[in-house]
Amino acid sequence: MHIKELLSYSAEQLREVTDIPQKEAMILLAHVLGCETSWILTHSHNEIKLDEHFFELLKRRVSHEPLEYILGKASFYGKEFNVDSRVLIPRPETEILVDKAVELARELPQNAHIVEIGCGSGIISIMLSLLLPDAKLTAVDISMDALNVSKQNAQKHGVDKNITFIESSYLDNVDGNIDMIVSNPPYIANAEPLGIGLSYEPSLALYGGSRGDEMLCHIVDLFQERKAKALACEMGYDQREPMRLYAQSKGLEIEFYKDLASLDRGFWIKEKK
Ligand code: GLN
Repeated sequence: MHIKELLSYSAEQLREVTDIPQKEAMILLAHVLGCETSWILTHSHNEIKLDEHFFELLKRRVSHEPLEYILGKASFYGKEFNVDSRVLIPRPETEILVDKAVELARELPQNAHIVEIGCGSGIISIMLSLLLPDAKLTAVDISMDALNVSKQNAQKHGVDKNITFIESSYLDNVDGNIDMIVSNPPYIANAEPLGIGLSYEPSLALYGGSRGDEMLCHIVDLFQERKAKALACEMGYDQREPMRLYAQSKGLEIEFYKDLASLDRGFWIKEKK
């Protein structure tokens, strides 16, 4: 079979799964061949003989498994991270949370202690460690499986010595002073049906309780109890009003940010001076 024919056959199979079937077919083939997609484009008339592996991966994608899990990697903030079904796939909007956290950290001492609750694949703590090299980072997760992925990613980006990874529910196992808390916790309401792609992701990382904002509210409580100076969290597009009311009931001033689609996507709170 020619590469060209293989690509059009594969793209046809992927038509119902993705808006970019041609591109995904090419990415899968490049992954199996261990080459760049640009090589495939320039050699589309080459004859190719593939083993079963390519067709197995294609089949997984046809069943809606996210491409990132099939490839074992995802990009975030212009960097590559290892991902698999033990962790949530990084979402582009979470880059805004990283930027917000960096902005807040600039108002803290350079060696501030920043704690991330629910680090998953580690993308937030790792980016914060790269962008704020003097900060002291602690990344916690209740899932040891997720911590293993985040440790691997920290090593990949050379910041494993700068981040302390702790298996912990919230801040239960984190001692000492905390300057800033950052989190992209599960915030989807338990009863909400997940789209077919999301069903491959760990539900532990997605569902936040019967309302969805329970964990966010608990993190606001912890921010207050631990007397941290700043808090930044991602949230659902419809959680602005409940979070505003919750912060108000606690006497806190909350501010919100939007994602690239102009949907409410997160908030931050600073200590009262
Ligand atoms: N933003 C993710 C989604 O919509 C959810 C992430 C989360 O619950 N923290 O799939």
